[in-house]
Amino acid sequence: MDTPTLYTLPALPYDYKALAPYISEQQLTIHHQKHHQAYVNGANAVLEKLVKARKENADLDMKATLKELSFHTGGYRLHRLFWENMAPAGKGGGGVPGGEVGTAITGEFGSFDRFKKEFTQAANSVEGSGWAALCFCTITRRPMLMQVEKHNVNMHPSFPILMVLDVWEHAYYLDYRNDRAKFVEGFWNIVNWDAVNQRFLAVQKK
Ligand code: MN
Repeated sequence: MDTPTLYTLPALPYDYKALAPYISEQQLTIHHQKHHQAYVNGANAVLEKLVKARKENADLDMKATLKELSFHTGGYRLHRLFWENMAPAGKGGGGVPGGEVGTAITGEFGSFDRFKKEFTQAANSVEGSGWAALCFCTITRRPMLMQVEKHNVNMHPSFPILMVLDVWEHAYYLDYRNDRAKFVEGFWNIVNWDAVNQRFLAVQKK
């Protein structure tokens, strides 16, 4: 049998200093190398456990195993999306969304300011650890907000994600201590709208 493919930590599309002052070099380094890496390792550990159990024809606690797998693969995927939907302030990051996603946001929310307000409220009100996301409902063909708890709770099945913001404390505690709202406010300066628009264009084909 071939060696099964495992998860690997993707490189960031910019250097660790690039998102400062909104996300510091130290905060981004730890977030990527320690936290994102932990989800890579966690997902691989479950995958290896599954392979081993199948080889030995051993029983697994399927509920616990799949819950753990979903947590780690969710963490892996969301971080990857998060890194990709940011860019250095003034160098691809910040401003207002242009392109077709800009039109879709204005059409759905009435204005960019209203979208920003709703997304900010979604991010600030996540209970415990989680994410705010803008996704695209492939049924109604409309943009939709999503608030994810942990990495895998309250997800809409198969609604492609256009943009995410990590509001786990590990994303901001070094830079903002407990002030999540301040971190969320800073995020708007480093949103890579071009990347968000590219994702929007790609999901139109689905
Ligand atoms: Mn994180």
